[in-house]
Amino acid sequence: MVEIFIVLALLVTFSFVALKYFVKQEDTKTYQYKVKGPIMSAQQTAFYNALKEAVGEHGVIVSKVNMSTIITPKQQANKKQWFIANNLIAKSYFDFVVCDPRTMQVRVIIEYDNGDKLHPGKVERQKLIMQVCKSAGIPLIGASVKLSYQVSKLRRLLAAHIDLIEPEKEVRFCKRCGSPMTIKTAAQGEFKGRRFFTCSRHPACQYTENYNVVFEDENLPLQ
Ligand SMILES: [Zn+2]
Repeated sequence: MVEIFIVLALLVTFSFVALKYFVKQEDTKTYQYKVKGPIMSAQQTAFYNALKEAVGEHGVIVSKVNMSTIITPKQQANKKQWFIANNLIAKSYFDFVVCDPRTMQVRVIIEYDNGDKLHPGKVERQKLIMQVCKSAGIPLIGASVKLSYQVSKLRRLLAAHIDLIEPEKEVRFCKRCGSPMTIKTAAQGEFKGRRFFTCSRHPACQYTENYNVVFEDENLPLQ
């Protein structure tokens, strides 16, 4: 019995010494690095440029933002659960984040679909992004590769979330009674937080209009 303890003690001591030795070696070693490539692919760059044009001065676009930079798990039942939730987002990133230019608060997340076939990794990522955005209450826009160069469509999608229209420049009249319309923000319901136009004669006139019905193409359904 005693022998076993001695052997065990020796083993433990040995592993400690070995660990210390190797860790020290690692510490002093200087690794070499090289540039992997541009921060975005050519396709992503084209999309980014279209996005930049769509957003203009009304937002700041940040690319490849680690999820845990802007999101953190809510209080969980226990610490372990919190760490699991945190691990889920720690290694993942958002393709594009549009922020308010003054406060840098996150306004909308844009997930860029490069048109690749669906594979398990891609499905997992999409599920995670949808779940994370939904639970954190951040609007998410999925933009496919086809949207890349269509600035007007991007604008349409973005208009509900950021101030693309300068209210003093945008004068709109009620289609029912001809009175000027005012911009309001939905306080509740499915479209909470979204802006819309309402007739200045409200409640006498009930006419409302989507905030983003400014652009020619009306065929694109809102996401
Ligand atoms: Zn009206």
